[in-house]
Amino acid sequence: MPAVLIRQDERIEAANSLAESLLGAGLAGRHFITALRQPQLLDAIEGSLRDRVARVAEYLTNNGQQDTCFRVSARPVDLPGGVLVCFEDVTHVEQLGQMRRDFVANVSHELRTPLTALIGFIETLRGPARNDTVAQTRFLGIMDSEAHRMNRLVGDLLSLSRVEAEERVRPTTLVNLCQVVRSTLHGLTPVAAEAGVTLVSDLPEGRVEITGDEDQLRQVVTNLVENGVKYGGKGSTVHVHLSQAAYAPRLRTQAVGLTVSDTGPGIDPIHLPRLTERFYRVDSHRSREMGGTGLGLAIVKHIVNRHRGRMRIDSDLGQGTRFVVTLPVS
Ligand code: ADP
Repeated sequence: MPAVLIRQDERIEAANSLAESLLGAGLAGRHFITALRQPQLLDAIEGSLRDRVARVAEYLTNNGQQDTCFRVSARPVDLPGGVLVCFEDVTHVEQLGQMRRDFVANVSHELRTPLTALIGFIETLRGPARNDTVAQTRFLGIMDSEAHRMNRLVGDLLSLSRVEAEERVRPTTLVNLCQVVRSTLHGLTPVAAEAGVTLVSDLPEGRVEITGDEDQLRQVVTNLVENGVKYGGKGSTVHVHLSQAAYAPRLRTQAVGLTVSDTGPGIDPIHLPRLTERFYRVDSHRSREMGGTGLGLAIVKHIVNRHRGRMRIDSDLGQGTRFVVTLPVS
């Protein structure tokens, strides 16, 4: 940690090498004001020199590429009348705070859109459309779908927070993945049929057991297959393949592979690295139209992490999309 020792006469007594790389070489002997030019920090040091009470200040630097944020403490020390100044790098804490603020802003925005629609339609139903039964039926239909959208969003937010909270808790139950995939696909058959999408599964005979969380594994299958159906669209096919346990070199252990691929429009590879971020969408308009929340893949990623697995996404425009989830057996 960069540290600078300042004497009672306000000159620098000594500085460690980290402080020299942060503030420049040759600090010893200089007046502290010429080395630490940020007013908030100078005030803190002056105050501590004067009344011998510790203080904390912020110090921001930029190396031309990125900002670094330090929490600096100025503490009186035994060197008669001196103050020790230590720089703790808190950039990551700041970044976490920023992520949290972005997340809250995103959630508020996502909720506000359907809420605004609902408020507008309620006003219309009370006013201009009071006696128009045709308009009423139509508006109530839209209100119903907007309310369901909010419900899905809240449901996904709760799932995400639950999954994140449990991410470091290893699952302990033995799950027959073959059975989980089969029954999940059974539940999704009507959804696929309604969208005009063919579901094809290729599952091994017998049991494929892993140590896992059954509900969460079900959610992985659901989210990936639902995406395939949603984005594949009418006339497309979604294939689900589950492989028997085999040695997975990347995980250096026995693992099973779940592959969900579709014959849909595919995704431009530039989007792939960010696809599992919360609220990241290739085409927000299309996602909303399809009832998407932008959280499905973020939830899948956290579940896969909790199971210490990996997810790979292969796609290209016009080539369909393939998600490969590799899960260690235990
Ligand atoms: P959403 O609720 O928007 O579907 P997801 O987190 O499930 O959110 O997916 C994020 C984005 O990834 C989607 O908005 C879509 O742009 C893209 N995507 C996901 N799955 C597919 C797929 N099978 N084919 C094409 N695009 C997909």
